[in-house]
Amino acid sequence: MADTWIRNVLIETNYLQEDGFTYGSQTKPIDIQLKEGKVTKIQNYQSDKKYASEIDGKGLLILPTLKEMHCHLDKSKLGVPWRPVTPAKNLVERFTSEVVELDSLDLSIEARAKNLIDIELANGVTFFRSHIDVHPAVGQRYLEGVQRAISEYNQQFDYELIAFPQHGLLRSNAYKEVDTALKNGATLIGGVDPYTLDGDVEKSLAQTFELAVKHQVPIDIHVHDRFEAGRATFKTLLEYTKQTYWQGKVFVSHAFGLNDFTGEEREKMYADLAKEQIGIISSVPINGVVPPLIELQQAGVQVALGCDNVYDSWSPYGTGNILEKLNRYGEVFNRKTQEELTASLGLITGGRQTLSNEGDKLWLQEGDVASFLLTKASCAAEFVARQNAVEASFYRGKNTFNR
Ligand SMILES: [Zn+2]
Repeated sequence: MADTWIRNVLIETNYLQEDGFTYGSQTKPIDIQLKEGKVTKIQNYQSDKKYASEIDGKGLLILPTLKEMHCHLDKSKLGVPWRPVTPAKNLVERFTSEVVELDSLDLSIEARAKNLIDIELANGVTFFRSHIDVHPAVGQRYLEGVQRAISEYNQQFDYELIAFPQHGLLRSNAYKEVDTALKNGATLIGGVDPYTLDGDVEKSLAQTFELAVKHQVPIDIHVHDRFEAGRATFKTLLEYTKQTYWQGKVFVSHAFGLNDFTGEEREKMYADLAKEQIGIISSVPINGVVPPLIELQQAGVQVALGCDNVYDSWSPYGTGNILEKLNRYGEVFNRKTQEELTASLGLITGGRQTLSNEGDKLWLQEGDVASFLLTKASCAAEFVARQNAVEASFYRGKNTFNR
């Protein structure tokens, strides 16, 4: 396979410092050789050279592509005429009416899912983790619809599909449908509030882990429960993770209940989450329930972000720009320094960041997968704080998006 060169892009090499204050990042222009989806060579920009196949990087900054770690491709209403969210008294009423609403839309699930995918791709995403409703009310048809949508992209991104019993694994008798979905291409098992929705946290999580072990898949479960319900859920999750040796394969989305641990119990819970490698995924809600993400990271817990609702039956909001969520995280948690902003990029890149806190260059290296974006920002910190547009995106060496 022939190689291609990306010419003249800027890469961060160190911080700029004066009197102990970091006032920016140093960059230098480079050329990058791409071959078979990998970065095979990185060299200083050589303006006098000419290659058979080359793309002008126009002096733009190169950054890792972004990961959307929590979305619902099956729930998107993008593309249908504006309607605000219909009233619902509670969660059960909401998800019951959701099925009726989505099924009555004039646009197919494939088209709606593609509208969301297109927005995210244009914002630099090359990885999606999407929950897909799988339960008796919808069977496998949402999963199949999203799979058809994805198949039209001819490999422009990586993805994980979560078999998600939105109506409750126990409450809606979804075990069989989830089991089937995991045979049909879903690669994770989901869940939602086993304590309050299923009414039996032990039994619900036992079945979740049973299916996870049977299919050898990770778990990513929605937990909105607070106080005693949240506490019991996290304790049970820890217990089952240990029992099944599922370390590194359990994620909790939202995790509002982590706010409710106090004192020693809080320290112990966060340390245990780190020890059992249970990751937290947040959509950074601004109504006061966002878990203490900085404190969790300081305790060694892996944190990542997702857009979650983007114009669906649950919320009229959401732009489908994961960078906007990271920007909100920065503002909510008061990330202001060059180092803090630079490090925060890791929350939407699967941990890839350009520079360490000490200014060591961490990314990009020869041998890396050639997935990166180009932007007019001067550095990762500016990209996070100012939300610069993505000018171009590359997935495994293929140029998949240009503004
Ligand atoms: Zn969700």
